Amino acid sequence: MRSSHCCYGQAMTTNAPRVAKDQVVAIRYTLTSQSGEILDQSGDSPLAYLHGYDNIVPGLERQLEGKAPGDKLRAVVTPAEGYGERDPAGSQRVPREAFPADIHIEEGMQFAAQSPDGRMIPMWVTEVEESAIVVDLNHPLAGETLIFDVEVVALRAASTEELSHGHVHEHGSHHHH
Ligand code: ZN
Repeated sequence: MRSSHCCYGQAMTTNAPRVAKDQVVAIRYTLTSQSGEILDQSGDSPLAYLHGYDNIVPGLERQLEGKAPGDKLRAVVTPAEGYGERDPAGSQRVPREAFPADIHIEEGMQFAAQSPDGRMIPMWVTEVEESAIVVDLNHPLAGETLIFDVEVVALRAASTEELSHGHVHEHGSHHHH
């Protein structure tokens, strides 16, 4: 008769930190499309983000919840939890004069326009014509199912300043306020 272990696996319940709100999480990741095309990946150093503040797509943030350093996972993120569904009405042709004259506009560039109620609306250049620019209000990855192969590299508690800003401050990469 085989003995059963009543407490098998109990050694796993330690106080090791887990991915949760207000933690700065460092991850390595590769993002591929459903057709296997690599869309994005972390560079030489891992990406650090503040968990719980919508700094990464919701579906990835949700699936990282509760993970520990060293954990690897494949997170499949639907458009609804990624960059949204693609709205065919999102593509618009805008006269060249609507853009600053001193900026060289290229396909793939991102701009923000201000809506009448003061919100910033991001848009991406999809085509450059002689006298008009075609922009798309859809994120370039809207409508895509995103496949993230992720490894949690490190965790730390966020600083008070990071929590009040809602994003990470890493040395060398601090930017905007
Ligand atoms: Zn800041």
